[in-house]
Amino acid sequence: MTERLEPTCSHCRYFQMQDAQNGTCHRFPPVFAGESSPRETHHWRFPAVSPFAWCGEFQPLPQR
Ligand code: SF4
Repeated sequence: MTERLEPTCSHCRYFQMQDAQNGTCHRFPPVFAGESSPRETHHWRFPAVSPFAWCGEFQPLPQR
């Protein structure tokens, strides 16, 4: 029997965990994140997403 995973970010091939509660989505290139911190060398970020979020671009992790 094949286990069916929830289609959430934590099970998506585009998700990258950043810490225990947060991650980023790498489905698309980084997006402009504003200029609120002038000391940073660049202002482009991958979108921050919760491991429990989801979107219509979900793709399951590759099978091992
Ligand atoms: S936002 Fe969509 S594409 Fe990005 S990690 Fe979550 S489910 Fe995957």
